[in-house]
Amino acid sequence: MLIIKDLFTNLAIVVSLLFLYSHIFSTSPLTKDSTILRKVLLGVVGGLFSNILMQYGIRIDTTIVDLRHIPIILLAFFGGSLPALIGMVLVILGRFIIGVNTSAYASVILMILITLFSILISSQRISKKKKVIWMLTFSNIIFTFVIIYLVKDISLLVKLIPIYWIISYIAGFLSFYILDFIRKSQFLLEKYKSESTTDGLTGLNNVRKFDEVFNSLLNELNKSIQSLSLLYIDIDFFKKINDTYGHSEGDLVLKRLGTLLTEGTRNFDIVSRNGGEEFTVLLPDTSVARALDIAEHIRKTVENTEFSLTSGGVIKVTVSVGVASYKETTENPSMLIEDADKALYVAKKTGRNKVCCHNSID
Ligand code: GH3
Ligand code: MG
Ligand code: MG
Repeated sequence: MLIIKDLFTNLAIVVSLLFLYSHIFSTSPLTKDSTILRKVLLGVVGGLFSNILMQYGIRIDTTIVDLRHIPIILLAFFGGSLPALIGMVLVILGRFIIGVNTSAYASVILMILITLFSILISSQRISKKKKVIWMLTFSNIIFTFVIIYLVKDISLLVKLIPIYWIISYIAGFLSFYILDFIRKSQFLLEKYKSESTTDGLTGLNNVRKFDEVFNSLLNELNKSIQSLSLLYIDIDFFKKINDTYGHSEGDLVLKRLGTLLTEGTRNFDIVSRNGGEEFTVLLPDTSVARALDIAEHIRKTVENTEFSLTSGGVIKVTVSVGVASYKETTENPSMLIEDADKALYVAKKTGRNKVCCHNSID
């Protein structure tokens, strides 16, 4: 009964360490494409986990039975050879720190075989499930040989070996399940997070993100930034483009315009697609003169760009731009959107393909 209790404690430690680990390293999980530095770091972390498991292992004379192989298998499975080998070295060193005896030497052979076999399996073109089963089964077999060599008490072995196999399988499968589950959830969370702030067509900020950034910039005004300009950009006669060439060609134009806007602005400017064929650029710490320059540069670039169609042809497109700037043309910064929109309206009314500025101060 004591054996089950102790191995169960080991199992509980594996689970809680994995949970902790997944939270700390959630942003970039270990993969075979991770950087060397990351592989080394996570190899060390895995090695330390194995050492913790050893500390809580079952002591039979000078032999220690525990689940130290699980973190090493996980390292090999997810990260390949480098992290697994680092983890292995740490486990071997840790075992010798506990005591130098036959059991410690046997542990060297055990860990080397398990690590090498796991590395070999991890590079095979077989399903994930098969990899896990192979790694765990091989580890259990090697363990069985080593423990039979080390422990001479047959009645103890008869109890220990089956329980070890069961707990090792449970711990292994549970670990993979937990890591897989947390990785998938984390991936979906990141995906939904980015989808909720990004415009799917152009990859620019969507209107929700625009509002968020705009509000945070309003809060920064007169603190870390002194002025804020806004460009409101609308494609001229876009409906005609859709009607003539079709909606999907229209989408292509929107995409290309998104790229032109990003390229035509500075890296700290915030470019968004606020809806349909309307785009904005927020220009922090930018005077109205500079904002007008940037707007004119954008207008000219669009005018001179040949927008390619899937059919192979090219079309010309123009944009109208409305500009407003706190504090030179807009007294109350929360009125920037309204003022830029008014300026855009004037640009549309007075001929399109032009930049206009609305001054609500005088
Ligand atoms: P104006 O010069 O006055 O801005 O004329 P306009 O035709 O550009 O403006 P209007 O508001 O009449 O039409 C905008 C069009 O944009 C209508 C709509 O079909 C199109 N549109 C909106 N969103 C999308 C989109 O995601 N893809 C495509 N292809 N078209 C879109
Ligand atoms: Mg419009
Ligand atoms: Mg338009």
